[in-house]
Amino acid sequence: MAKRDYYEVLGVSRNASDDEIKKAYRSMAIKYHPDKNPGDKSAEEKFKEAAEAYEILSDPQKRAGYDRYGHQGATGGNYGGGMNMDDIFSQFGDVFGEGNPFDSFFGGGGSRSRSRTRGSNVRIKVKLTLQEIATGVEKKVKFNRMVGAEGLTFKTCNTCGGAGQVRRVTQTFLGQMATTTTCPTCNGSGKVVDKRPQGVGPDGLVNKEEIVSINIPAGVADGMQLSMSGKGNMGPNGGAPGDLIIVIEEQEDGVLKREGNNLVYDLHISFIDATLGTTVEVPVVNGKVKLKIDAGTQGGKILRLKGKGIPELNSSYRGDQLIYVNIWTPQKLNAEEKATLEKWRDAENFKPHPGKHDKSFFEKMREYFQ
Ligand SMILES: [Zn+2]
Repeated sequence: MAKRDYYEVLGVSRNASDDEIKKAYRSMAIKYHPDKNPGDKSAEEKFKEAAEAYEILSDPQKRAGYDRYGHQGATGGNYGGGMNMDDIFSQFGDVFGEGNPFDSFFGGGGSRSRSRTRGSNVRIKVKLTLQEIATGVEKKVKFNRMVGAEGLTFKTCNTCGGAGQVRRVTQTFLGQMATTTTCPTCNGSGKVVDKRPQGVGPDGLVNKEEIVSINIPAGVADGMQLSMSGKGNMGPNGGAPGDLIIVIEEQEDGVLKREGNNLVYDLHISFIDATLGTTVEVPVVNGKVKLKIDAGTQGGKILRLKGKGIPELNSSYRGDQLIYVNIWTPQKLNAEEKATLEKWRDAENFKPHPGKHDKSFFEKMREYFQ
């Protein structure tokens, strides 16, 4: 569905002042607020539409972009459109000033502002070898996080008298409003730490080393992040914990080079082996395999070991190992070797035949890496 013009949504003219825009949004927000229109889908849509319009028109930069380029220009083209309800309610603080009237005025909805402060996330790095990435691995990792301390004594919070919430009476444009919010002192628990051992903060948290076992799936890549919900820092005074964020760091292998899901190996063989053909052993990610080199193999040929690469994350697909054939040219010859080679120098079979190569190096690279 095409978006309506933001000015039309708020019912203001294109040169409306910031105050006019704010005023128009306030009345729309009150009229269509979900607490006032329970179960009314069209009111909810109008409520969201107005919030989005206000989000753009209240920001001078976004408004200028919108005036010039329309909806695409509002945030440089990357604005997804839908605001969720939490975004909208958090915006109310700016629109209605301190003490958002909806929390107590329309009943319900209070949980939105009564939620306790959540703990922060903890980030750790985990180094993985190519072998571990190829198979997936379970890693035991030590890290530090803030947890609730033991041996604390508590007393009733003075700020809220143990209720966990504070009520405030404020003057708003709707008249006198009583608002209820989470007590800032005790984070809603109603209690504060009385006596605490050394090293424990006034929030009752202490730094603790923990060991966690992380199951890392095959196919991860450098810079990827995994998260373990609830394994981060605990919130102050019993608030919910944050997450543990695990950042993958890929160690250089030195032998095999990773190109997406493929692995590349640089093979060097003598020009005699290339001429006569041979069998060589090449390293793969979890061992070695024997590889036949055909007689008459040209330098620059790329051989493929199908399915010997890195698995695609969460998929049954597995990349290949590509073997790039380099022909080694000897640099020191003794008299006998030199004489033998001199003997063949002018033989027709030892002269290069560039026109007979099947494909150029670049054609082959394009074929394998596209
Ligand atoms: Zn309190």
